[in-house]
Amino acid sequence: APAHVSVIGLGMMGSALAAALLKAGHQVTVWNRNPAKTGILTAQGAFPAQSPAAAIEAGELTILCLTTYDDVTGLLTPIAASLKGRVLANLTNGTPAQARELAAWTAEQGAAYLDGGIMAVPQMIATPAGYILYSGDERAYEAHRPTLAALGGTRWTGTDPGYAALYDLALLTGMYGMVMGVTQAYAMIRSENIPATDFAPLLADWVTAMTQGAVPGIAAALDSGDHLTDVSSLAVNQAAIGGFLDAFAAQGVSPAFFEPLRDLLDRSVAEGHSADGFSRLVELLGK
Ligand code: NDP
Repeated sequence: APAHVSVIGLGMMGSALAAALLKAGHQVTVWNRNPAKTGILTAQGAFPAQSPAAAIEAGELTILCLTTYDDVTGLLTPIAASLKGRVLANLTNGTPAQARELAAWTAEQGAAYLDGGIMAVPQMIATPAGYILYSGDERAYEAHRPTLAALGGTRWTGTDPGYAALYDLALLTGMYGMVMGVTQAYAMIRSENIPATDFAPLLADWVTAMTQGAVPGIAAALDSGDHLTDVSSLAVNQAAIGGFLDAFAAQGVSPAFFEPLRDLLDRSVAEGHSADGFSRLVELLGK
C-alpha cells in the first residue's frame, strides 16, 4: 500500500531517495534548506513542506539525508517537540557513536529511530546493485520495510542503532584497502610504462579470486579461533614483504601504504604467530 513519506535533505542522495519513493507510488513530502532543490521533485508530484517540522508531521516516516550528524542534530534540536510519536530514518553518513547518541536523544523526544547506511551512489538507488543497511528500532523497521524497499535492498543489522554505521564503515574500509592495493599495483606497472589497461584484466581477476578465498577464510578462522593456516603463513609473508618494499624503492614507488603491513607482519612473527594465517592480524590490530 502506498505510504506517506517525508524526505528532509535533497542533495544528490536525498533527491534520488525522494524520486525513488515517488516512482514507487508513495506520497512524498520534501523539505530542503535551499528551497531551489525541491522544484524537480514537486514537478514529479512531491509536496513541498514549509518547514522541517511540517515535513515530519506530514509523513508516517521521515527520511533524513544531510551532510553530517551535526547537521541533523542542528536541524532537529529546535523542533524536538514535533518528534513525539514519529518515525525517523536517518540515512546520513556517520559513526556508530553518533548514531547511538542521536538514537538516545530521539527516544527522549518519543520518536522511533532507525539508522541507515547507504551502500550505493545516487544512481544505484532503487536498482538491484544498491542496498541500505538499517539498525535501531526493529518494530519501526518491520512496519516500514515495504516502503524502504522502494530505495533498493534492505539489510537489517541489529537493534543496536550503531550497527548500520559500523557495517557501513567496515565495508568501506574493505574498499579502501582494496583501493590501496590496486593503486600500488598500478604504480608498479606504470613505473615501467606498461599501459594500465593491459594489466587491468589480470588485476581484476586476481583481486576477485583472492577476495573470494580470503574473505570467508579469514572469517571462519576468526570465529573458530583457529588461526593455523594451510593457505599462506605469516612467516612466509613476513619473509617476502621486505622484497616488496625493496622493489617499490627500486621502481620509485612510495612504500607508505605497505610499511604498516610489514610492521604488523614483523610483530606477528616476533610474537610467535609464524604458522598462523592473516586472520591473526585481525587480533593484533585489535590490541
Ligand atoms: P549533498 O552535498 O549533495 O547534499 C547535502 C544535503 O544536506 C543538502 O540537501 C544540504 O542542503 C543538506 N544540508 C547540509 N547541511 C545542512 C544543515 N546544516 N541544515 C540543513 N540541511 C543541510 O550530499 P549527498 O546527498 O551526496 O550526501 C548526503 C548524505 O548521504 C551524506 O551523509 C553522505 O555521506 C551520504 N551518502 C552519499 C552517497 C553518495 O554517493 N552521494 C553514498 C552514500 C552515502 P542544501 O541543499 O541547502 O545545501
